[in-house]
Amino acid sequence: MVGAGFAGVACVRRLERRLTGREAVISLLSPFSYQLYLPLLPQVASGVLTPQSVALSLRRSQKHRTRILPGGAIGIDTDAKVCVVRTITGDIRTEPYDHLVLTPGSVTRTFDIPGLAEHARGLKTLAEAAYIRDHVIAQLDLADASEDEAERAARLQFVVVGGGYAGTETAACLQMLTHNAVKRYHRLDPELIKWHLVDIAPALMPELGPKLGEAALAILKRRGIEVSLGVSVSSVDDDNVTLTDGRVLPCRTLIWTAGVAASPLIGTLGAETVRGRLMVEPDLTVPGLPGVYAMGDAAAVPDLAKDEAGAICPPTAQHAMRQGKVAADNLVAALRGEQTYPYAHKDLGLVVDLGGIDAVSKPLGVELHGLPAQVVARGYHWSALRTNVAKARVMTNWLINAVAGDDFVRTGFLASKSGTLKDFEYTDAYLTPEQVRAHTASLRAVASS
Ligand SMILES: Cc1cc2nc3c(=O)[nH]c(=O)nc-3n(C[C@H](O)[C@H](O)[C@H](O)COP(=O)(O)OP(=O)(O)OC[C@H]3O[C@@H](n4cnc5c(N)ncnc54)[C@H](O)[C@@H]3O)c2cc1C
Repeated sequence: MVGAGFAGVACVRRLERRLTGREAVISLLSPFSYQLYLPLLPQVASGVLTPQSVALSLRRSQKHRTRILPGGAIGIDTDAKVCVVRTITGDIRTEPYDHLVLTPGSVTRTFDIPGLAEHARGLKTLAEAAYIRDHVIAQLDLADASEDEAERAARLQFVVVGGGYAGTETAACLQMLTHNAVKRYHRLDPELIKWHLVDIAPALMPELGPKLGEAALAILKRRGIEVSLGVSVSSVDDDNVTLTDGRVLPCRTLIWTAGVAASPLIGTLGAETVRGRLMVEPDLTVPGLPGVYAMGDAAAVPDLAKDEAGAICPPTAQHAMRQGKVAADNLVAALRGEQTYPYAHKDLGLVVDLGGIDAVSKPLGVELHGLPAQVVARGYHWSALRTNVAKARVMTNWLINAVAGDDFVRTGFLASKSGTLKDFEYTDAYLTPEQVRAHTASLRAVASS
């Protein structure tokens, strides 16, 4: 198994339950010892939740017997049936397999925009959430200490790119952080704080429909967030973000949440992809690669619940965790010579937490906003947390935050990191297919002799 996210952990837990130790040895390759509950990351960045409360231990399970390998796959040779692994100490090893389940998820999608690689900050990992929080608080600290008006204004201007649910939640939750924090900075004029949410699409969160998109827009505008639709970033440097409509925004913070791309690991297989995601059959097997399964954000899983020809499942946690269970069932069926079954799930809708009592939600097609939407949003995420201890931590954090607020502490743990996507999402860690084959040449020679 490669990747301990929503899909990977659901698959492992099912395999642990359905297979005996004599039937299979399960190995899980993961750079971290936790499963990250990504939908609550904006709340970590804004300080409502602590980082530990959304990091669910991989070892807390009564049935836990999986061998956990601390590291990441940097290439796969499906001929030699080997994963090339970089361990957390930086050593490169090869790990042979009989059956392979690929669930490495996705990375932040970027474009060829000057300055983006150096200046954009993502929100896909726990480190990024902690980094962004510290970075935003640092801007308040530095603006407060500065006597230079231009510097103050630039440090207090923030740009978020991406009007999907991740970007909208991020902008809304972080605006709430600065709105509350500035009360502790007596030298700062709250009017100087400016948040911009930018998206090339003509509407916010089109997947929620026009009514809820408008409701979200109204909430953001009421909070003073400037939303620019039909616009993107044309360049970024140390001091400014330039938009495609010609506006130049002096600022030191560009948060980039403009969609996701399948993990670069998928490219090392040399297999067929659909928009970068590994093409799979409805039973989650990879065509032409016997014994290989893939799902979650990294795979293009046919969406059988939609009538549309060629539809693929959107990259969401609700699909990933259900696909993980189906892949486990199908792997067990294949081992026992039984019939496999196709993955089909009708979307349950979306919940979008905008901080405080603001939210928009569409559970089972019912459109909600305000407090009812927030109750549904938090209730959904709370019940989806896999362990009771995580549920207790999150609930306690919500209560403490509601009663006592935040202390806006800047930890400085990641101050020495540049915070780029490369830094935190390891996007340049992967081998080319040729490099993979160079690593596995001796193993392929043995396999073919
Ligand atoms: C801010 C935000 C908010 C979101 N909100 C929602 C929401 O409200 N509802 C919803 O349904 N979805 C939401 N999503 C999307 C959802 O989180 C993803 O679709 C889901 O996490 C995909 O599951 P996955 O198992 O494919 O990948 P992930 O859960 O991302 O897991 C991938 C795992 O693989 C590991 N990994 C990566 N590369 C390697 C490698 N080379 N080797 C080994 N391991 C590797 C990673 O460390 C990670 O543990 C949100 C996402 C974000 C970023």
